[in-house]
Amino acid sequence: MGYIEPAPIKDKENPFESMMSRFRIAAQHLGLDDEVYDVLKSPTRQVIVSLPVTMDDGSIKVFEGYRVVHSTILGPSKGGVRYDMDVNIDEVKALAAWMTWKCAVVDIPYGGAKGGIRCNPREMSPGEIERLTRAYTQEMHEVFGPDRDIPAPDMGTGPREMAWLMDEFSRARGMTINSVVTGKPLVLGGSLGRTEATGRGVMITALAAMERLKINPYQAKIAIQGFGNVGSWAARLLEERGASITAISDLSGAYVNEKGINIDDAIAYRDKNNGSLEGFAGVAKITNEELIELDVDVLVPAAKEDVIHSRNAAKVKARLIVEGANGPTSAKADSIVNDAGIMAVPDILANAGGVTVSYFEWVQNRLGYKWTGERVNRRSDRIIKTAFNNVYRVSQEYNVSLRIAAYIVAIDKVAKTYKYRGGF
Ligand code: GLU
Repeated sequence: MGYIEPAPIKDKENPFESMMSRFRIAAQHLGLDDEVYDVLKSPTRQVIVSLPVTMDDGSIKVFEGYRVVHSTILGPSKGGVRYDMDVNIDEVKALAAWMTWKCAVVDIPYGGAKGGIRCNPREMSPGEIERLTRAYTQEMHEVFGPDRDIPAPDMGTGPREMAWLMDEFSRARGMTINSVVTGKPLVLGGSLGRTEATGRGVMITALAAMERLKINPYQAKIAIQGFGNVGSWAARLLEERGASITAISDLSGAYVNEKGINIDDAIAYRDKNNGSLEGFAGVAKITNEELIELDVDVLVPAAKEDVIHSRNAAKVKARLIVEGANGPTSAKADSIVNDAGIMAVPDILANAGGVTVSYFEWVQNRLGYKWTGERVNRRSDRIIKTAFNNVYRVSQEYNVSLRIAAYIVAIDKVAKTYKYRGGF
Protein backbone atom coordinates (compact mmCIF):
# COMPACT_ATOMS: atom_id res chain seq x y z
CA MET A 1 0.00 0.00 0.00
CA GLY A 2 2.44 2.58 -1.27
CA TYR A 3 0.09 5.49 -0.83
CA ILE A 4 0.07 5.51 2.97
CA GLU A 5 3.44 7.26 3.22
CA PRO A 6 2.68 10.99 3.06
CA ALA A 7 4.91 12.71 0.52
CA PRO A 8 7.28 15.29 2.00
CA ILE A 9 5.77 18.75 1.91
CA LYS A 10 8.13 21.64 1.34
CA ASP A 11 7.89 24.87 3.30
CA LYS A 12 5.98 26.71 0.59
CA GLU A 13 3.31 24.12 0.18
CA ASN A 14 2.50 22.83 -3.24
CA PRO A 15 -1.32 22.93 -3.48
CA PHE A 16 -1.48 19.60 -5.32
CA GLU A 17 0.59 17.97 -2.56
CA SER A 18 -1.64 19.63 0.05
CA MET A 19 -4.67 18.07 -1.63
CA MET A 20 -2.92 14.69 -1.97
CA SER A 21 -1.89 14.49 1.67
CA ARG A 22 -5.56 14.73 2.76
CA PHE A 23 -6.54 12.31 0.01
CA ARG A 24 -4.00 9.78 1.32
CA ILE A 25 -5.35 9.97 4.86
CA ALA A 26 -8.95 9.52 3.68
CA ALA A 27 -7.90 6.69 1.32
CA GLN A 28 -6.24 4.95 4.23
CA HIS A 29 -9.39 5.23 6.38
CA LEU A 30 -11.45 3.80 3.54
CA GLY A 31 -8.95 1.02 2.79
CA LEU A 32 -9.03 2.15 -0.84
CA ASP A 33 -7.52 -0.24 -3.42
CA ASP A 34 -4.15 0.81 -4.84
CA GLU A 35 -5.67 0.62 -8.30
CA VAL A 36 -8.46 3.10 -7.54
CA TYR A 37 -6.03 5.29 -5.64
CA ASP A 38 -3.79 5.48 -8.70
CA VAL A 39 -6.72 6.37 -10.96
CA LEU A 40 -7.97 9.14 -8.67
CA LYS A 41 -4.60 10.73 -8.03
CA SER A 42 -3.90 11.28 -11.73
CA PRO A 43 -5.84 13.97 -13.59
CA THR A 44 -7.57 12.63 -16.72
CA ARG A 45 -6.39 15.46 -18.93
CA GLN A 46 -4.10 18.48 -18.68
CA VAL A 47 -4.14 21.06 -21.43
CA ILE A 48 -1.74 24.01 -21.62
CA VAL A 49 -2.16 26.57 -24.39
CA SER A 50 -0.45 29.79 -25.36
CA LEU A 51 -2.73 32.66 -26.22
CA PRO A 52 -1.39 35.53 -28.34
CA VAL A 53 -3.61 38.55 -27.74
CA THR A 54 -3.50 41.99 -29.37
CA MET A 55 -3.28 44.58 -26.61
CA ASP A 56 -4.86 48.03 -26.90
CA ASP A 57 -1.51 49.62 -27.82
CA GLY A 58 -1.20 47.31 -30.83
CA SER A 59 1.43 45.03 -29.31
CA ILE A 60 0.92 41.30 -29.04
CA LYS A 61 1.24 39.63 -25.68
CA VAL A 62 1.29 35.87 -25.20
CA PHE A 63 -0.56 34.47 -22.19
CA GLU A 64 -0.54 30.92 -20.88
CA GLY A 65 -3.88 29.17 -20.36
CA TYR A 66 -4.69 25.91 -18.61
CA ARG A 67 -7.53 23.43 -18.25
CA VAL A 68 -7.15 20.36 -16.12
CA VAL A 69 -9.90 17.74 -16.10
CA HIS A 70 -9.30 15.74 -12.97
CA SER A 71 -12.11 13.22 -13.27
CA THR A 72 -15.24 12.43 -15.28
CA ILE A 73 -16.23 9.37 -13.29
CA LEU A 74 -19.37 10.97 -11.82
CA GLY A 75 -20.30 12.89 -14.98
CA PRO A 76 -19.09 15.77 -17.17
CA SER A 77 -16.34 17.71 -15.44
CA LYS A 78 -17.19 21.01 -13.79
CA GLY A 79 -15.12 23.87 -12.46
CA GLY A 80 -14.25 27.52 -12.75
CA VAL A 81 -11.72 29.46 -14.78
CA ARG A 82 -9.35 31.67 -12.79
CA TYR A 83 -7.59 34.82 -14.04
CA ASP A 84 -4.68 35.54 -11.73
CA MET A 85 -0.92 36.09 -11.83
CA ASP A 86 -0.30 33.09 -9.54
CA VAL A 87 -2.03 30.57 -11.82
CA ASN A 88 0.22 27.57 -12.53
CA ILE A 89 -0.26 23.93 -13.44
CA ASP A 90 0.10 22.57 -9.88
CA GLU A 91 -2.47 25.01 -8.58
CA VAL A 92 -4.91 24.19 -11.39
CA LYS A 93 -4.37 20.44 -10.82
CA ALA A 94 -5.17 20.80 -7.12
CA LEU A 95 -8.19 22.98 -7.80
CA ALA A 96 -9.46 20.48 -10.39
CA ALA A 97 -9.22 17.59 -7.93
CA TRP A 98 -10.96 19.67 -5.25
CA MET A 99 -13.84 20.13 -7.72
CA THR A 100 -14.17 16.35 -8.07
CA TRP A 101 -14.41 15.96 -4.29
CA LYS A 102 -16.68 18.99 -3.96
CA CYS A 103 -19.24 17.72 -6.47
CA ALA A 104 -19.15 14.28 -4.84
CA VAL A 105 -19.64 15.69 -1.31
CA VAL A 106 -22.81 17.55 -2.34
CA ASP A 107 -23.91 14.63 -4.51
CA ILE A 108 -24.29 16.36 -7.86
CA PRO A 109 -23.59 14.39 -11.07
CA TYR A 110 -20.33 16.03 -12.10
CA GLY A 111 -16.66 15.27 -12.22
CA GLY A 112 -14.05 17.93 -11.50
CA ALA A 113 -12.00 20.35 -13.59
CA LYS A 114 -10.40 23.75 -13.34
CA GLY A 115 -8.96 26.26 -15.73
CA GLY A 116 -6.97 29.41 -15.55
CA ILE A 117 -4.97 32.03 -17.38
CA ARG A 118 -1.88 33.63 -15.91
CA CYS A 119 -2.74 37.32 -16.23
CA ASN A 120 -3.57 40.37 -14.14
CA PRO A 121 -7.12 41.32 -15.11
CA ARG A 122 -6.93 44.46 -12.96
CA GLU A 123 -4.34 45.87 -15.34
CA MET A 124 -6.20 44.94 -18.53
CA SER A 125 -8.94 46.79 -20.41
CA PRO A 126 -12.32 45.11 -20.99
CA GLY A 127 -11.41 44.73 -24.68
CA GLU A 128 -8.14 42.95 -23.82
CA ILE A 129 -9.93 40.64 -21.38
CA GLU A 130 -12.57 39.88 -24.00
CA ARG A 131 -9.97 38.96 -26.64
CA LEU A 132 -8.10 36.84 -24.12
CA THR A 133 -11.30 35.03 -23.10
CA ARG A 134 -12.26 34.38 -26.72
CA ALA A 135 -8.75 33.12 -27.56
CA TYR A 136 -8.85 30.77 -24.56
CA THR A 137 -12.30 29.47 -25.57
CA GLN A 138 -11.12 28.86 -29.15
CA GLU A 139 -8.17 26.81 -27.89
CA MET A 140 -10.35 24.87 -25.43
CA HIS A 141 -13.46 24.33 -27.52
CA GLU A 142 -12.67 20.65 -27.99
CA VAL A 143 -12.31 20.27 -24.23
CA PHE A 144 -15.50 22.17 -23.27
CA GLY A 145 -19.05 21.00 -23.93
CA PRO A 146 -22.35 20.74 -22.04
CA ASP A 147 -21.88 16.98 -21.67
CA ARG A 148 -18.13 17.08 -21.51
CA ASP A 149 -16.61 19.88 -19.44
CA ILE A 150 -18.52 22.90 -18.13
CA PRO A 151 -16.58 25.98 -17.02
CA ALA A 152 -17.79 28.66 -14.56
CA PRO A 153 -16.46 31.79 -12.87
CA ASP A 154 -13.66 31.70 -10.32
CA MET A 155 -11.19 34.29 -9.00
CA GLY A 156 -10.86 37.17 -11.47
CA THR A 157 -13.78 36.10 -13.68
CA GLY A 158 -17.55 36.62 -13.53
CA PRO A 159 -20.74 36.69 -15.64
CA ARG A 160 -19.13 38.99 -18.22
CA GLU A 161 -16.35 36.52 -19.06
CA MET A 162 -18.84 33.61 -19.03
CA ALA A 163 -20.97 35.46 -21.63
CA TRP A 164 -17.93 35.82 -23.94
CA LEU A 165 -17.03 32.18 -23.40
CA MET A 166 -20.58 31.04 -24.20
CA ASP A 167 -20.69 33.24 -27.29
CA GLU A 168 -17.32 32.09 -28.63
CA PHE A 169 -18.12 28.42 -28.02
CA SER A 170 -21.53 28.87 -29.72
CA ARG A 171 -19.84 30.50 -32.76
CA ALA A 172 -17.45 27.58 -33.06
CA ARG A 173 -20.40 25.14 -33.07
CA GLY A 174 -22.65 27.29 -35.26
CA MET A 175 -25.54 27.47 -32.78
CA THR A 176 -26.34 28.90 -29.38
CA ILE A 177 -25.36 26.46 -26.64
CA ASN A 178 -25.83 28.15 -23.29
CA SER A 179 -25.44 25.05 -21.13
CA VAL A 180 -21.69 24.89 -21.94
CA VAL A 181 -20.94 27.34 -19.13
CA THR A 182 -22.55 28.44 -15.85
CA GLY A 183 -22.44 31.68 -13.92
CA LYS A 184 -23.76 33.53 -17.00
CA PRO A 185 -25.67 36.82 -16.88
CA LEU A 186 -29.39 36.23 -16.22
CA VAL A 187 -30.46 37.29 -19.72
CA LEU A 188 -28.20 34.65 -21.28
CA GLY A 189 -29.67 31.82 -19.24
CA GLY A 190 -27.96 32.46 -15.93
CA SER A 191 -29.76 31.26 -12.81
CA LEU A 192 -31.33 33.40 -10.14
CA GLY A 193 -29.33 32.95 -6.96
CA ARG A 194 -26.04 31.99 -8.71
CA THR A 195 -24.19 35.22 -7.82
CA GLU A 196 -24.73 34.83 -4.09
CA ALA A 197 -24.72 31.00 -4.10
CA THR A 198 -21.18 30.39 -2.80
CA GLY A 199 -21.54 32.98 -0.02
CA ARG A 200 -24.93 31.53 0.83
CA GLY A 201 -23.46 28.05 1.22
CA VAL A 202 -20.78 29.54 3.49
CA MET A 203 -23.55 31.09 5.60
CA ILE A 204 -25.55 27.83 5.75
CA THR A 205 -22.53 25.71 6.77
CA ALA A 206 -21.33 28.36 9.23
CA LEU A 207 -24.72 28.38 10.97
CA ALA A 208 -24.87 24.58 11.02
CA ALA A 209 -21.39 24.39 12.58
CA MET A 210 -22.17 27.19 15.05
CA GLU A 211 -25.20 25.23 16.18
CA ARG A 212 -23.00 22.19 16.90
CA LEU A 213 -20.53 24.38 18.79
CA LYS A 214 -23.34 26.20 20.61
CA ILE A 215 -22.22 29.59 19.29
CA ASN A 216 -25.22 31.93 19.24
CA PRO A 217 -25.13 33.81 15.90
CA TYR A 218 -26.53 36.91 17.59
CA GLN A 219 -23.48 37.04 19.86
CA ALA A 220 -20.93 35.88 17.30
CA LYS A 221 -18.05 37.96 16.01
CA ILE A 222 -16.89 37.01 12.55
CA ALA A 223 -13.77 37.99 10.57
CA ILE A 224 -13.90 37.57 6.81
CA GLN A 225 -10.69 37.51 4.79
CA GLY A 226 -11.34 38.46 1.17
CA PHE A 227 -14.17 40.75 0.09
CA GLY A 228 -14.79 39.51 -3.44
CA ASN A 229 -17.96 37.74 -4.48
CA VAL A 230 -17.73 34.95 -1.88
CA GLY A 231 -16.51 37.00 1.10
CA SER A 232 -18.89 39.91 0.65
CA TRP A 233 -21.97 37.71 0.14
CA ALA A 234 -21.04 35.53 3.11
CA ALA A 235 -20.61 38.71 5.18
CA ARG A 236 -23.94 40.17 4.11
CA LEU A 237 -25.90 36.94 4.68
CA LEU A 238 -24.28 36.21 8.04
CA GLU A 239 -24.96 39.79 9.15
CA GLU A 240 -28.61 39.29 8.11
CA ARG A 241 -28.72 36.24 10.41
CA GLY A 242 -27.66 38.40 13.36
CA ALA A 243 -23.86 37.97 13.45
CA SER A 244 -21.49 40.88 13.86
CA ILE A 245 -18.87 41.09 11.11
CA THR A 246 -15.98 42.73 12.94
CA ALA A 247 -13.31 42.47 10.22
CA ILE A 248 -13.16 42.32 6.44
CA SER A 249 -10.24 42.56 4.05
CA ASP A 250 -9.06 42.72 0.47
CA LEU A 251 -5.74 43.22 -1.32
CA SER A 252 -5.48 46.75 0.14
CA GLY A 253 -5.48 45.47 3.75
CA ALA A 254 -7.86 44.48 6.54
CA TYR A 255 -10.44 46.68 8.25
CA VAL A 256 -11.70 46.19 11.79
CA ASN A 257 -14.53 47.57 13.88
CA GLU A 258 -15.17 45.77 17.18
CA LYS A 259 -18.78 46.94 17.13
CA GLY A 260 -19.44 45.46 13.72
CA ILE A 261 -19.02 46.74 10.18
CA ASN A 262 -22.09 47.73 8.18
CA ILE A 263 -21.69 45.33 5.26
CA ASP A 264 -24.06 47.10 2.87
CA ASP A 265 -22.00 50.28 3.35
CA ALA A 266 -18.76 48.36 2.76
CA ILE A 267 -20.10 46.78 -0.44
CA ALA A 268 -21.40 50.13 -1.73
CA TYR A 269 -18.03 51.73 -0.94
CA ARG A 270 -16.09 48.94 -2.69
CA ASP A 271 -18.31 49.16 -5.78
CA LYS A 272 -17.81 52.93 -6.06
CA ASN A 273 -14.09 52.72 -5.29
CA ASN A 274 -12.93 50.56 -8.20
CA GLY A 275 -13.44 47.31 -6.30
CA SER A 276 -11.20 48.30 -3.36
CA LEU A 277 -11.92 48.90 0.34
CA GLU A 278 -8.94 51.31 0.59
CA GLY A 279 -10.08 54.43 2.46
CA PHE A 280 -13.28 52.88 3.89
CA ALA A 281 -14.27 55.05 6.90
CA GLY A 282 -15.08 54.14 10.53
CA VAL A 283 -12.67 51.22 10.77
CA ALA A 284 -9.11 50.60 11.96
CA LYS A 285 -6.68 49.27 9.39
CA ILE A 286 -4.58 46.17 10.02
CA THR A 287 -2.91 43.65 7.71
CA ASN A 288 -4.44 40.52 6.19
CA GLU A 289 -2.03 38.44 8.31
CA GLU A 290 -3.24 40.16 11.50
CA LEU A 291 -6.86 39.46 10.56
CA ILE A 292 -6.18 35.71 10.70
CA GLU A 293 -5.12 36.07 14.33
CA LEU A 294 -8.03 38.25 15.53
CA ASP A 295 -10.01 37.36 18.62
CA VAL A 296 -13.27 36.36 16.93
CA ASP A 297 -15.62 33.37 17.13
CA VAL A 298 -15.59 32.53 13.45
CA LEU A 299 -12.94 33.05 10.79
CA VAL A 300 -13.96 32.87 7.14
CA PRO A 301 -10.97 32.78 4.75
CA ALA A 302 -12.57 33.65 1.42
CA ALA A 303 -9.64 34.64 -0.76
CA LYS A 304 -6.84 32.27 -1.76
CA GLU A 305 -4.89 29.15 -0.88
CA ASP A 306 -2.56 28.76 2.10
CA VAL A 307 -3.50 31.83 4.16
CA ILE A 308 -3.61 29.64 7.28
CA HIS A 309 -0.22 27.94 7.27
CA SER A 310 2.19 26.25 9.64
CA ARG A 311 3.55 29.58 10.90
CA ASN A 312 0.29 31.27 11.87
CA ALA A 313 -2.08 28.34 12.55
CA ALA A 314 -1.24 28.25 16.26
CA LYS A 315 -2.19 31.92 16.53
CA VAL A 316 -5.76 31.47 15.25
CA LYS A 317 -8.16 32.38 18.07
CA ALA A 318 -11.44 31.62 16.35
CA ARG A 319 -13.31 28.47 17.47
CA LEU A 320 -14.59 27.86 13.99
CA ILE A 321 -13.06 28.25 10.52
CA VAL A 322 -15.38 28.17 7.51
CA GLU A 323 -13.46 27.92 4.25
CA GLY A 324 -15.06 30.15 1.63
CA ALA A 325 -11.89 29.92 -0.50
CA ASN A 326 -10.43 26.77 -2.04
CA GLY A 327 -7.47 25.45 -0.05
CA PRO A 328 -7.05 28.35 2.44
CA THR A 329 -5.61 26.02 5.11
CA SER A 330 -2.38 24.30 4.18
CA ALA A 331 -2.04 20.59 4.91
CA LYS A 332 0.65 21.30 7.49
CA ALA A 333 -1.69 23.68 9.32
CA ASP A 334 -4.50 21.08 9.50
CA SER A 335 -3.11 19.21 12.48
CA ILE A 336 -2.25 22.43 14.34
CA VAL A 337 -5.81 23.65 13.90
CA ASN A 338 -7.22 20.26 14.93
CA ASP A 339 -5.01 19.95 17.98
CA ALA A 340 -6.15 23.39 19.10
CA GLY A 341 -9.73 22.07 19.06
CA ILE A 342 -10.81 24.44 16.29
CA MET A 343 -13.55 23.13 14.02
CA ALA A 344 -12.84 23.71 10.33
CA VAL A 345 -15.63 23.36 7.78
CA PRO A 346 -13.53 22.38 4.75
CA ASP A 347 -13.63 24.17 1.40
CA ILE A 348 -15.09 21.22 -0.50
CA LEU A 349 -18.18 21.48 1.72
CA ALA A 350 -18.27 25.14 2.81
CA ASN A 351 -17.98 26.68 -0.66
CA ALA A 352 -19.95 24.04 -2.57
CA GLY A 353 -23.02 26.30 -2.80
CA GLY A 354 -21.57 27.86 -5.97
CA VAL A 355 -21.24 24.67 -7.95
CA THR A 356 -24.59 23.45 -6.63
CA VAL A 357 -26.39 26.42 -8.15
CA SER A 358 -24.21 26.04 -11.27
CA TYR A 359 -25.72 22.59 -11.54
CA PHE A 360 -29.21 24.12 -11.24
CA GLU A 361 -28.31 26.62 -13.96
CA TRP A 362 -27.24 23.78 -16.27
CA VAL A 363 -30.43 21.84 -15.47
CA GLN A 364 -32.58 24.89 -16.25
CA ASN A 365 -30.72 25.52 -19.52
CA ARG A 366 -31.29 21.96 -20.60
CA LEU A 367 -34.96 22.11 -19.60
CA GLY A 368 -35.35 25.45 -21.34
CA TYR A 369 -37.05 26.65 -18.19
CA LYS A 370 -36.45 29.15 -15.40
CA TRP A 371 -36.81 28.49 -11.69
CA THR A 372 -37.72 31.17 -9.16
CA GLY A 373 -34.98 32.42 -6.85
CA GLU A 374 -36.93 30.99 -3.96
CA ARG A 375 -36.82 27.50 -5.49
CA VAL A 376 -33.08 27.79 -6.19
CA ASN A 377 -32.30 28.86 -2.63
CA ARG A 378 -34.56 26.29 -1.01
CA ARG A 379 -33.05 23.43 -3.02
CA SER A 380 -29.45 24.52 -2.62
CA ASP A 381 -29.86 25.11 1.13
CA ARG A 382 -31.25 21.60 1.43
CA ILE A 383 -28.34 20.07 -0.48
CA ILE A 384 -25.74 21.94 1.57
CA LYS A 385 -27.41 21.10 4.91
CA THR A 386 -27.72 17.44 3.98
CA ALA A 387 -24.04 17.36 2.96
CA PHE A 388 -23.01 19.04 6.21
CA ASN A 389 -24.99 16.54 8.32
CA ASN A 390 -23.57 13.65 6.33
CA VAL A 391 -19.97 14.84 6.72
CA TYR A 392 -20.54 15.54 10.41
CA ARG A 393 -21.89 12.01 10.95
CA VAL A 394 -18.90 10.46 9.14
CA SER A 395 -16.48 12.58 11.20
CA GLN A 396 -18.00 11.08 14.36
CA GLU A 397 -18.09 7.58 12.94
CA TYR A 398 -14.40 7.60 11.91
CA ASN A 399 -13.30 9.98 14.67
CA VAL A 400 -11.71 12.36 12.16
CA SER A 401 -11.90 16.08 11.36
CA LEU A 402 -14.67 17.42 9.15
CA ARG A 403 -12.07 17.80 6.39
CA ILE A 404 -11.03 14.17 6.38
CA ALA A 405 -14.68 13.16 6.75
CA ALA A 406 -15.56 15.20 3.65
CA TYR A 407 -12.77 13.50 1.69
CA ILE A 408 -13.98 10.11 2.93
CA VAL A 409 -17.54 10.83 1.74
CA ALA A 410 -16.28 12.10 -1.62
CA ILE A 411 -13.65 9.46 -2.36
CA ASP A 412 -15.99 6.67 -1.31
CA LYS A 413 -18.63 7.87 -3.77
CA VAL A 414 -16.19 8.31 -6.66
CA ALA A 415 -14.45 4.99 -5.95
CA LYS A 416 -17.76 3.07 -5.82
CA THR A 417 -18.88 4.65 -9.09
CA TYR A 418 -15.54 3.81 -10.68
CA LYS A 419 -15.90 0.19 -9.60
CA TYR A 420 -19.29 -0.03 -11.35
CA ARG A 421 -18.08 1.70 -14.49
CA GLY A 422 -14.79 -0.18 -14.67
CA GLY A 423 -11.62 0.65 -16.61
CA PHE A 424 -9.71 -0.86 -19.48
N1 GLU B 1 -15.27 28.31 -9.11
C1 GLU B 1 -16.28 27.83 -8.22
C2 GLU B 1 -15.71 26.78 -7.28
O1 GLU B 1 -14.53 26.72 -7.04
C3 GLU B 1 -17.54 27.37 -8.93
C4 GLU B 1 -17.37 26.25 -9.90
C5 GLU B 1 -18.61 25.96 -10.70
O2 GLU B 1 -19.66 26.53 -10.45
O3 GLU B 1 -18.51 25.14 -11.60
O4 GLU B 1 -16.43 26.03 -6.67
